[in-house]
Amino acid sequence: MSVLIFVDHLDGHIKKASHEALTYGSKIAEQMGDTAEAVVLGDVNEDLAGVGKHGVKKVHHVQHEHLKNFDSQVYTNVIAQVAEQTGAKTIIFSNNSSGKALAPRLSVRLKAGLASGATALPSNATVRKNVFSGKAIANVSLNSDIKIISLNVNAFTIEEKEGTAEVVPFNATVDAPKVKVVGSTKASGKVSLTEADVVVSAGRGMKGPENWGIVEELADSLGAALACSRPVADAHWRPHNEHVGQTGIAIAPNLYIAIGISGAIQHLAGVNRSKVIVVINKDPEAPFFKAADYGIVGDAFDIVPKMTAAVKKMKGINA
Ligand SMILES: Cc1cc2nc3c(=O)[nH]c(=O)nc-3n(C[C@H](O)[C@H](O)[C@H](O)COP(=O)(O)OP(=O)(O)OC[C@H]3O[C@@H](n4cnc5c(N)ncnc54)[C@H](O)[C@@H]3O)c2cc1C
Repeated sequence: MSVLIFVDHLDGHIKKASHEALTYGSKIAEQMGDTAEAVVLGDVNEDLAGVGKHGVKKVHHVQHEHLKNFDSQVYTNVIAQVAEQTGAKTIIFSNNSSGKALAPRLSVRLKAGLASGATALPSNATVRKNVFSGKAIANVSLNSDIKIISLNVNAFTIEEKEGTAEVVPFNATVDAPKVKVVGSTKASGKVSLTEADVVVSAGRGMKGPENWGIVEELADSLGAALACSRPVADAHWRPHNEHVGQTGIAIAPNLYIAIGISGAIQHLAGVNRSKVIVVINKDPEAPFFKAADYGIVGDAFDIVPKMTAAVKKMKGINA
């Protein structure tokens, strides 16, 4: 039997979230004495044998012109064929936008139980996951023959060791998509927000869009992605793809730096899975300090440039 891991890629490069899922799925296979196998749809500019470094033994690669653009219905049909032919009993996705579209569809198709948003390795088919925006933890038992688990982004450390995977072309029936992509515009951020290790985020405390230079400089010095609170995006100070929170993007970076953000519950809902939270706010009573690992009470316009200078000095970057 095998554990099948879906590999998500963007512009031909395997996403960091998929490297996490590959490590996670390989560990599950190890636990169960099974083989870890991966499924890749569409063209990739990387040597797929390389995913063997995460413990995967075989990669099923499906190439077809209809797989050029992501289409959840077309992709689900193809993954189902691979799952059926390989006899996979456990299927792993990353709980990112692709995984959120594919895992539920596949679970209906294969009559499989689905645990979405796993945060740790399962124990006796019981999966630990965050619920209510991370306010509680649920242990979910999967009792179906086929089990699907989607792993939260940044919840599992990528592991690499010696090894290559066998790459085999998979001949699937690929439907023509019912939806045609007529154009797409790329988000402007230099670092992808959902994949970033470090996120620098700012709110209404920055007073206006003209002041974002110091936020961007701090983000650049740290190699971080930029984020913002909702009112900032609503006021068009920053693009909507940077808006994090309950109604925006939910993120879980290793480090989240919040500048001039009050810490409303709706904001916290999207960022409280961050491993370390640093809050900079001039109001010592700002609610965000309760959720912070480190807090700096002070004026962002004074503190942020000093932080940037310190980071640059530490990294040996000339100012
Ligand atoms: C249904 C619903 C959904 C929502 N979804 C979201 C969501 O997804 N994401 C989200 O962010 N919000 C969301 N909101 C809005 C949320 O309730 C807050 O209003 C919002 O998060 C506040 O944004 P803010 O912290 O940037 O601004 P403010 O609340 O105005 O806070 C600004 C902060 O900056 C500090 N400050 C001011 N000047 C400085 C300075 N010079 N230096 C340092 N600190 C300074 C202030 O002390 C204050 O704490 C939602 C609201 C509703 C009702």
